[in-house]
Amino acid sequence: MKRVGVLALQGAVREHAQSIEACGAEAVLVKWPSDLEDLDALILPGGESTTMRRLVDRYGLLGPLRAFAKSGKPMFGTCAGLILLAKEIVGYPEPHLGVMDIKVERNSFGRQADSFETPLSVKGMEAPFEAVFIRAPHIVSAGSGVEILGEHDGKIVMARSRQFLVCSFHPELTDDHRITAYFLSMISSQTDISLPKRSVYSKV
Ligand code: GLN
Repeated sequence: MKRVGVLALQGAVREHAQSIEACGAEAVLVKWPSDLEDLDALILPGGESTTMRRLVDRYGLLGPLRAFAKSGKPMFGTCAGLILLAKEIVGYPEPHLGVMDIKVERNSFGRQADSFETPLSVKGMEAPFEAVFIRAPHIVSAGSGVEILGEHDGKIVMARSRQFLVCSFHPELTDDHRITAYFLSMISSQTDISLPKRSVYSKV
């Protein structure tokens, strides 16, 4: 069974764990560096990125989280989790983990109500996803290796780059587990990338 961690310092932790289990994987709550051992993938939930960063430092998790990213295992950042993964945050001198090639702006939908729900069309998904936005960030710009998976109001709200998946909204707050299932599917595709395909040899 796939073991998927949820950073459990603050924010929407339980809902992510439920969504992981609804998809048939084991959810592991991560609070200490040793909790990262033997995970196949990790979710950084929504909440408040500055508070979460303070707790990451307090629990000695910054280095271990960066090492986890370096190991190539899939990581999924939702809302504040997206901010934690970004290489650049508008108005801030330093990123947090700084591992995904995106520039993000916090609290981007301020002129609308703080929270809203909207059907979002996600690349590769037939039916729209009911996306819940809560004081959400958006992706201002992205490097060439980043695939845009969703936009709302002309703003990028979902993207993937190699093992990193991010969205501005909260997929775990609905009963629709398609995005969690998509993330879990990245676990096996990562393995595929590291194993040369047989066709490579057959050409030689
Ligand atoms: N506004 C929050 C932040 O900047 C993110 C909100 C959320 O995760 N729902 O960290």
